[in-house]
Amino acid sequence: MNRKFKTSPLAQLDHKFVWHPFTQMADWLKREPIVITSGNGAILRDVKGRQFLDANSSIWTNLHGHNHPKINSAINRQLKKIAHSSALGFANEPASLLAEKLVHLANPKSLKPGKRHLGKVFFSDDGSTAMEVALKLAYQFAQRTGSPQPKFLSLEGAYHGDTVGAVSLGHIDLFHKAYSGLLFKSDKAAAPYCYRCPYNRAKPERADAREYRKCNWECVGKLEQKFIAQKKKSNSYAAFVFEPLMQGAAGMIAQPEGWLRRAAGIARQHGALLIADEVITGFGRTASDFACHQEGVQPDFLALAKGLTGGYLPMAATLTTQKVFNAFLGKYEEFKTFFHGHSYTGNQLGASAALASLKILQSKESIRSRQILEQTLRDELPKLWKLPNVGDIRQVGLAIGIELVRDWRTREPFGLRERVGIRVCEAMGKRGVLTRPIGDVIVLMPPYCTTQSQMRCIVKVVYEACHEIFG
Ligand code: PMP
Repeated sequence: MNRKFKTSPLAQLDHKFVWHPFTQMADWLKREPIVITSGNGAILRDVKGRQFLDANSSIWTNLHGHNHPKINSAINRQLKKIAHSSALGFANEPASLLAEKLVHLANPKSLKPGKRHLGKVFFSDDGSTAMEVALKLAYQFAQRTGSPQPKFLSLEGAYHGDTVGAVSLGHIDLFHKAYSGLLFKSDKAAAPYCYRCPYNRAKPERADAREYRKCNWECVGKLEQKFIAQKKKSNSYAAFVFEPLMQGAAGMIAQPEGWLRRAAGIARQHGALLIADEVITGFGRTASDFACHQEGVQPDFLALAKGLTGGYLPMAATLTTQKVFNAFLGKYEEFKTFFHGHSYTGNQLGASAALASLKILQSKESIRSRQILEQTLRDELPKLWKLPNVGDIRQVGLAIGIELVRDWRTREPFGLRERVGIRVCEAMGKRGVLTRPIGDVIVLMPPYCTTQSQMRCIVKVVYEACHEIFG
C-alpha cells in the first residue's frame, strides 16, 4: 500500500487491489487516484468533495448526464420486477421493446428505399462483444454463401475492442502487436487522415492547415486497389469493417465528407459485406442517430454499445439483415444455429435504461441542446488555434480531437516519453475538467446536458492546461 499520500481509505484499497485498464500501473501507483463517489448532469464528485466536469462522458459512454431522473426511475421500475433472466431460452419485455426501437432507429425513412433493412438484433455486453458477434456472423454467412475462407479488410489505425476477434481487426501496433501470435490475419486499408495526408502538399501554415488542398481522393484509390488485388487472388474480401465519420482510438480522426460513401460503394462493388462499428459514433455523438446514415450508407452489420444505455449499464447490440438471419435457419440437426451468447445477453435493467435513454435522445429538448452544444463548440474551439502547439482541431458533431504537436509549422509530433497528452490532461484535472488523451490528442466528448458555460469552461481549461505545459 502506498502511504506517501494522505489518501482516503478507498484510494488505499484501490492502490492495493485494483488493476486499471489501459493504465501503466507503475505511474498510477505514484499518484493519489481521484475516487469518484457521485455524479449529476455533466459533473462528477470525488470522495474529497471536489467537483469535475466529465469532458469525455466517462470514456464516451454517457449521453444525457449522470443521475438522470428518467433513466434512474426506468431502472428502479424494472428492478421492482426483475433484474435479470436469461435470453438463452426465454424472452423478456424490455429487450423485445428495445429491439423494436433499435430496428426503427436503424432504418430511417431518409434512406433510399431498397437499402438493406436491419431487422434483427443480437444483444451482448459491450463494444468488443458487439464487434465479435458481427465478425462471427459475417464469417459464417460468407462461408455459407460460397466463400470457404472469408477474409476481412479494416482500416489503418482501426480499433474495434479488446477481445481476440476484435483485436484481429485492429491495426494499432501499440495495442495489438503483442498479441499477433494469437490473432487471425486481417488486411489493412488506407484510411483518411487529412492532417497527415501524404498527398496533401499544402504548407502547414495556420490557415492552410485547416483548408486542405482540393482532395483527389488518393486514399480511396488505394482502398480500391486493395479490393482489386484481393480479387485477383480469387478470394474477394468477405467484409469491410470501419468506424463511420470518425476513427476514435486512432486519434479522433475525422473522415472528409464523401469518403465513407465512396469507400462503402467500392466495397459493395466488390461484393463485401459492410460492418459498421458505431460503438462511439452512434446515438447522436456525431450529430445524427447513426453516423453511417449521414453518408447514405446502410451496413449489413451495425455494432452498438457505449451510449446504448445512456452510459448506465454494460449492454451492446449487433443489428443485421433478414438475409444474414436466414443463413442461420435450418433443422436442429443441421447445426446452422449461431453458437454464441453471453450470460447477461438481453439484460432487463440494461434494456430498460436503453429504452429510457432513447426516449430522451429523441425528445425535442435533447435535439435542441445537442445543436446548441455543437454550435458552442464550433464557436469556442477556434480560440485554441492561438496555441502554438495545437496542430489540428477535429470536430464531428460532439466528438472532438485536438492534436498537439511540437511545431505546428512542420506538424512534428512529440516523443512518446514526453507524455504530453497525459500531462495536459493532468493539468486539466487540476482545473476541474476530466478527460483522457489518445497519445497527444486531447479528446472532448461532453455529455449532451453540458451547459454552454460548462462547455466554454472546458475549452478554456484546455487552453490554460496547454499554456501550463508548453509555457
Ligand atoms: N469499437 C470502438 C470504435 C471503440 O472505440 C471501442 C472502445 N473504446 C470498442 C469497439 C470496444 O468497446 P468496449 O470497450 O465497450 O468493449
